[in-house]
Amino acid sequence: MNRYESIRQQVADYGKKLVHEGYLKGTGGNVSIRVPGEAALAITPSNRDYLTLTPDDICVYTFDQEKIAGDLKPSIEMGLHIAVYQNRPDVGCVMHTHQDFASALAILKKPLPALFDEQVRFLGRSVEIIPYAPSGTGMLAKQVRRMVNNHHNAYIMKNHGVLCMGPTAERAYHNVLLLEKAATAYLLALFSGQKVNTIPLSIREIAFQKLRSEQKKIKKQLDELNEKDA
Ligand SMILES: [Zn+2]
Repeated sequence: MNRYESIRQQVADYGKKLVHEGYLKGTGGNVSIRVPGEAALAITPSNRDYLTLTPDDICVYTFDQEKIAGDLKPSIEMGLHIAVYQNRPDVGCVMHTHQDFASALAILKKPLPALFDEQVRFLGRSVEIIPYAPSGTGMLAKQVRRMVNNHHNAYIMKNHGVLCMGPTAERAYHNVLLLEKAATAYLLALFSGQKVNTIPLSIREIAFQKLRSEQKKIKKQLDELNEKDA
């Protein structure tokens, strides 16, 4: 299964990077990358130390959850990752973490308003709360499927953690960092007890349209590729 080698390497590398930067701890969280041109993904295995992961440990599965490569059990959140890829053709990588400050918002059930233009440009108009459902369940995947239709790239999962995505692994990783930075500033501002100011609505819309036009461009390119194949 050599053709999946580089994608599996990338999943393992980003898992380690998230641990080193403190966004993943122990065996919590998971990372996946869409296999280009196939209804399949490469995802971190269940319950494994990220620091010891090799490309062979990364599971490659179809969107019907049939195994293509890898002998370990895939992450229990695989259904949630698949729900994102099936509903968002612009997404090439999904990262689920339990990062500290955004997780605090998850237990406060506080969505993140539009605080910075860079935040809106890459994450969306706001960072909304995905209603609670237990880890690894179809119910949680269903909630995710419903939420990602707002075209945002970051979500807070109530009483759980966060879900970030992007067209590439590099951008999904950038979005994890951006979310944590905005969540930290927001929590500190809330602690002050003073009014939190958001960016002007007109600027929010301009920034969000940049994200949307990029997403539409990716979808158009994929549609053209699929037409060629058909
Ligand atoms: Zn989790």
